[in-house]
Amino acid sequence: MTARITVYLCIECPLGCRLEVEERDGDAIEVRGFSCKRGSEYARQEHVDPRRTLTTTVSISGARWPRLPVRTERPIPRARVRDVCRALRAVHVTAPVALGDVVAHDVGGLGVDVVATRAMSVVATPV
Ligand code: SF4
Repeated sequence: MTARITVYLCIECPLGCRLEVEERDGDAIEVRGFSCKRGSEYARQEHVDPRRTLTTTVSISGARWPRLPVRTERPIPRARVRDVCRALRAVHVTAPVALGDVVAHDVGGLGVDVVATRAMSVVATPV
């Protein structure tokens, strides 16, 4: 029987508790160091299947700015973040865009959409 302890920093709130996950024979058996249930759940999730909400920008035309801030609707597997960033390089949207508009469906085949995190209206071009 082999026991292994992995340490994580909880990112669920600014307190930043130091979390320890003890694993025995491949199973996470005990979490220590959390101050609330969120921390315990975060440690187990991070240990088994780490996920991140990706925030980035995509290209937009017809707006005041050349880039539109976006994020994934839900956290995605951390190991796939680069793939999704690569896929988003090919995405180009046209103003107007409303807050929450889906700018890309099922990116990377993960079943997660990417949405706009701000609205951008059309900028009138001078005649
Ligand atoms: S364990 Fe709870 S109190 Fe500690 S950082 Fe995580 S969310 Fe905050």
